[in-house]
Amino acid sequence: MALGDGYWIGPDGYVRKVYQHVTDVAEHPEVFGLTREVVDGFGPCVQDKSEASDRLRLAAIMLGWIRVRFYKTHRSIQLFRMNDRELRAIVKLLDEINAHDPEQIKIHEVFTGKRRRPTVGQLRERVAAADERARIQPLIDHVRLPAESCAVCDKTLEEVGGSRVAACMWFGVGLVAAGKLKRPPGDSAGGPIRLDEDLAVVFGGSVWDDEPRARAVAAFRAGRRPWLCQGCARKVCETCGAPLPFMPGTDVLDDDGRRWHHMIAPGGGCKNPRCAPPGSTQPTPMDSSADQAEESGGSDE
Ligand SMILES: [Zn+2]
Ligand SMILES: [Zn+2]
Repeated sequence: MALGDGYWIGPDGYVRKVYQHVTDVAEHPEVFGLTREVVDGFGPCVQDKSEASDRLRLAAIMLGWIRVRFYKTHRSIQLFRMNDRELRAIVKLLDEINAHDPEQIKIHEVFTGKRRRPTVGQLRERVAAADERARIQPLIDHVRLPAESCAVCDKTLEEVGGSRVAACMWFGVGLVAAGKLKRPPGDSAGGPIRLDEDLAVVFGGSVWDDEPRARAVAAFRAGRRPWLCQGCARKVCETCGAPLPFMPGTDVLDDDGRRWHHMIAPGGGCKNPRCAPPGSTQPTPMDSSADQAEESGGSDE
């Protein structure tokens, strides 16, 4: 087969027209982030179809370069991994050069060893989908201040104490791109609810009856993030009901809207000084003489 036009696309999108890919790397190592010594280390005869030339070409691909060759019947592309950057760079090159030429693309992804044969049209659709994701993701990631009250019991943090729970292993609530949902969002039981043109609210876990769902959606509509109090999230001491200070595997929502995660690790437990562990011989919290002494001491002052 006659050698067609060849191109290297660099990690930054820079396009080099080449006669032979591996020769270009061997002659201009600095362009590829390599040195003369490194190239020489691959061995002689890099211009031939030798093992050394295969490895040198692969080295450039591992450094983020995309190898493109235009044949009469198809396009041949070799790259490390097909992500959005690679996808956009390839479609840009195809659009700029001979856009009316063959639809057939052969893509060899080195990282997975996979070989695919998409059409140019399919690659363009993937770019459009990537653009849409890039537009919507910031809307999802946008930092929102906490809602005024717990989505389940409607109490404020001042009323119940503890921290706001944004998500844990058994419940969650969040935003997704509405277009990504398999079925259009509606008000079906437990299902997603559309927030606006772009976003839908999704619910996980069994706490989401009609009222909590409505509160969560209202919170997002007001530009806030819904949360559960520790009581409704069942993150309280089983003995005394005090909010647990340490909640492994839980996302907590701060006053400024930042979320942070309690790592799953041993430790924690109730920090209520008046809490008696189950089965202990200590007096129970509410009727202990220590409490009464404390209260009477307080009234004396
Ligand atoms: Zn609550
Ligand atoms: Zn306790």
